[in-house]
Amino acid sequence: MIPPDYHLHTRLCGHASGDVGDYLENAARKGLREVGFADHLPLYFLPPGEKMPGYAMGEEELPLYVELVNSLRDAAPVRVKLGIEADYVPGFEKKLAALLSAYSFDYVMGSVHFIDGWGFDNPAEIREYGSREIIRVYERYFSLVQQAALTGFFDIMAHPDLIKKFGFRPQADLTPLYEETARVFKKAGVCAEVNTAGLRCAAKEIYPSPALLEIFFKNGIPVTFGSDAHSPGLAGKDLEKAFSLVKNAGYREFAVFEGRKRTFVKI
Ligand code: ZN
Ligand code: FE
Ligand code: FE
Ligand code: ZN
Repeated sequence: MIPPDYHLHTRLCGHASGDVGDYLENAARKGLREVGFADHLPLYFLPPGEKMPGYAMGEEELPLYVELVNSLRDAAPVRVKLGIEADYVPGFEKKLAALLSAYSFDYVMGSVHFIDGWGFDNPAEIREYGSREIIRVYERYFSLVQQAALTGFFDIMAHPDLIKKFGFRPQADLTPLYEETARVFKKAGVCAEVNTAGLRCAAKEIYPSPALLEIFFKNGIPVTFGSDAHSPGLAGKDLEKAFSLVKNAGYREFAVFEGRKRTFVKI
């Protein structure tokens, strides 16, 4: 069994390639039975008129995205869910709420890609790590992830320890930060995404780390799976590794979504 890949992107975001149909075919060929697209939500937190080209679809493209994914459902070789990956940037909750409520998503993933304006997972902004204390960066990152979870906008928190992407790791023991994050996820009722893109970065490790995943398990945080594919060949990538990791952590079920309703599949 290979679990659903709930984190596929499309060309609309400006930094992914390939045809949506090819993502589905690749997923089906790898033995997946269900996938979900979760392309980047338009950057609702930018001042009106300002753009960050190549980051996300424009607001005028969001209806096209929804239509595109919905139009695939009938003839697809796998079950197709409509998700979205929404950045969390504090202070723009009204705009976020308006965008999310305008469409019938199956699930909404929350992501933190910005720390107080710093695109910390952007290779073009990697130098900033050199002028920061890494443990402080981790603390700020996880506090934003927790804040995001508590907003109630999100069903799933994407790549929960994305901050390790470029391999910057603090000396300090992260257990207390992980425990706190897990408790907040529990209180917020969100799932954690097990995302294989970390294997393809300097971090060389699935998001979340085995240590964080174990703490999620202990706290009863459900999981979903994602490749974060930005090209068709990556659909379903390394999902069997993510699945083993989850089973080894103790999980006996994972979450699936339809119309933002969560149910569980036994493993
Ligand atoms: Zn992306
Ligand atoms: Fe992301
Ligand atoms: Fe993504
Ligand atoms: Zn992502």
